[in-house]
Amino acid sequence: MPKNFLLIPGPTPVPQDVLLEMAREMINHRGSEFAQILKINTDLLKKVFKTENDVLILTASGTGGMEAAVANFFSQGDEVLVGVCGVFGERFAKICKAYGLNVKTIVTEPGKGIEPEVLEKALKENPNVKAVFLTHNETSTGVTNNLKELAPIVKENPERLLIVDAVSSLGAIDLPTDELKIDVVVTASQKALESPPGLAMVSVSELAWKFNEKANLPRFYFDLRQAKKFLEEGATPFTPAVSIFFALKKSLENILNRGLENNFKRHSLLGKAVREAIKAIGITKLLADERWASNAVTPVIPPDGVNPDDLRKYIRSKFGVVLAGGQGNLKGKIFRIGHVGYVEPTDILVALSAVEVSLENVGYKGIKGKGVQVAEEIFSQNSN
Ligand code: PMP
Repeated sequence: MPKNFLLIPGPTPVPQDVLLEMAREMINHRGSEFAQILKINTDLLKKVFKTENDVLILTASGTGGMEAAVANFFSQGDEVLVGVCGVFGERFAKICKAYGLNVKTIVTEPGKGIEPEVLEKALKENPNVKAVFLTHNETSTGVTNNLKELAPIVKENPERLLIVDAVSSLGAIDLPTDELKIDVVVTASQKALESPPGLAMVSVSELAWKFNEKANLPRFYFDLRQAKKFLEEGATPFTPAVSIFFALKKSLENILNRGLENNFKRHSLLGKAVREAIKAIGITKLLADERWASNAVTPVIPPDGVNPDDLRKYIRSKFGVVLAGGQGNLKGKIFRIGHVGYVEPTDILVALSAVEVSLENVGYKGIKGKGVQVAEEIFSQNSN
């Protein structure tokens, strides 16, 4: 088996010092040592979320955090608006429906984000909407919604909740929770936060807690009020994924020592290099519109006649580079290069080289080096 280059948009590669934290012996999850780790992680997360709101850590994948964001703030029949730019926006809409909410949607074409005017119009047409759900970075289409534009529109009515799925963006793409008055932000451990899967994190504003007082949807495992009550006593309501808490502490320290703004810059450089390289290869195309192009993941449309899943299998077996496939309607139509989390320019050069050589091997001559050269140029202009 060749060396592994995991370049999918989560789970992402975990640095060795973070992995080693998980080799630590087990501790009492109701003891003082865990209480300290829980507090440190919560405080570090507040810095990454850029919030003074409560941040609660749940033992679950990101979807558990999404479910918590629905189950804790509403009552049956409440009207909500969900922005759907792909599979994960759709997932928020499905969860809302499963809990009996009255769901309105804004659905964009694949590769496009939400236009401010479209959001404005939808809110005018549906004045009873109590909350808006948006995906910050839609991983299935490589689209980053511009929350700096969209959040103020939602907050024109200060009593309306804004709930954001930042599972594949928090830590990689700037998301100033408090500045944008976002009431609930959901993320998870296994993407930009450079830890293994297993923890979801949810921030909760004062307004969201007011909604919580009146909300009557059923909830148990994901009861955020319980989580807050236990957090105040240095514990979690149920047995937490203790080893992932060890890992998370290390990875958050790493990210904050490096500097959040530097992390955003690195992701923006990686995103730009991948997009310019894919364009330079010529026969590969970008799915996402430049205006919303994600710095965490780049979906690529292969040349006609090339099955992206066969191409990925070949790249995996020949070069050890693991790329992601398409999801939902895009299954079998695209492949995705993940560049979120612990990913460096060298990883990107390896991935681009593997794509180029593999396309040459299936008959597309004369493309070797085209994308790599462009990416190298971008990286060397930005190295210091
Ligand atoms: N939202 C987004 C934007 C995601 O990328 C993902 C994971 N790919 C999820 C939600 C769901 O997270 P999980 O798979 O951890 O449940």
